[in-house]
Amino acid sequence: LNQQLEALPTTIFTVMSALAREHNAINLGQGFPDTEGPQDIVQTAVNALLDGQNQYAPLTGLPELRQAVAESNRRFQGLNINPDTEVVVTSGATEALAASLMALIEPGDEVVLIEPLYDTYLPVVLQLGGVPRLVRLEHPDWTLPRQALADAFSARTKAILLNTPMNPTGKVFTHDELSFIAGLLREHDAYALCDEVYEHLTFGAKHISLMTLPGMRERCIRIGSAGKSFSMTGWKVGYVTAPAPIASVIAKAHQNLVFATAPNLQRAVAAGLRKDTDYFTQIAADFAGKRDLLSDGLRKLGLDVLPCHGSYFVIADISPLARGEDDMTFAKTLTIEAGVATIPASAFYSQLNGTPPAHLLRFAFCKQEQVLRDALSRIETWQ
Ligand code: PMP
Ligand code: GLN
Repeated sequence: LNQQLEALPTTIFTVMSALAREHNAINLGQGFPDTEGPQDIVQTAVNALLDGQNQYAPLTGLPELRQAVAESNRRFQGLNINPDTEVVVTSGATEALAASLMALIEPGDEVVLIEPLYDTYLPVVLQLGGVPRLVRLEHPDWTLPRQALADAFSARTKAILLNTPMNPTGKVFTHDELSFIAGLLREHDAYALCDEVYEHLTFGAKHISLMTLPGMRERCIRIGSAGKSFSMTGWKVGYVTAPAPIASVIAKAHQNLVFATAPNLQRAVAAGLRKDTDYFTQIAADFAGKRDLLSDGLRKLGLDVLPCHGSYFVIADISPLARGEDDMTFAKTLTIEAGVATIPASAFYSQLNGTPPAHLLRFAFCKQEQVLRDALSRIETWQ
């Protein structure tokens, strides 16, 4: 058996969701909305099934979805994308990330990763024989340590993996930070794999695609997800935008991993991407309200809530509540005793890069307001 995979623990999202179910806890752990996404696109998916969209879709995606992805790139980022050669539809952003890393990395290539980091990044880099160079954001403000980032680049750097808006921190990288990263990529002739699944979920801050910065159009692979943009995390439809020579290699990886993604869902996602700009403004406003409700409530419980400008998540310092327990132990205590599941933030750090912080929990706020209120009152009663 493959020893790296055999040794890989089951993802923390699955572990905490199982514990939440076992103890009837409110699940603010795994990031999935508890309300239905737009019903018109659900209807489009149903109609497409009845309409015979039941056989293999084209390898790189339905033409109508590739066209919609290109149009969305133009509408929201001013990018000029060829839908025939520069878009690949995948089965979720998870597959898009793995396929893109497969397309980029050869054994020994260095990949710069920013901690805290989403849980699939590091195992896939290692599986491919890539060499991770980890750079840790500084909390509590999630400041990018520029010198450490510059030091992580070398002649062997193949790529940086950049997630903005960022899971689990809610950080949205500024234009200035992106310019600094772009400078490093130009200097070291490296690529950027840009995980932008939360592109439409920003609160006050503006999401900027690194691909729009000077010299970056040819170096960036940009990834989106219908799961996040349309609150359909179970659909697992992702989309990659990349320069044609890179997109064609990503398509080769996709051909061996999945080959093609469910055509009815692709049609529905195409309709979703064509929605009025009002839809995208509204979904961000809804999530901003949820972020505020949860953050204010956690502050009233005496916790420090770290800054969050996007995504589904906010991180809080649990020291006042945790009675000396580390985040992993306390996340279990809170699930079992208070009935509220969260994710210990240390799960987003690698042991390869020193001791992770043990006093931070990630709370998902992509839930109905009453559910958030109930979770807060459960913690208040328990404390
Ligand atoms: N990247 C990030 C940062 C995520 O948070 C997630 C899932 N929430 C994914 C990728 C995976 O997205 P998908 O469900 O489309 O595979
Ligand atoms: N991305 C989701 C999160 O961060 C989880 C996805 C999964 O469970 N694989 O909570």
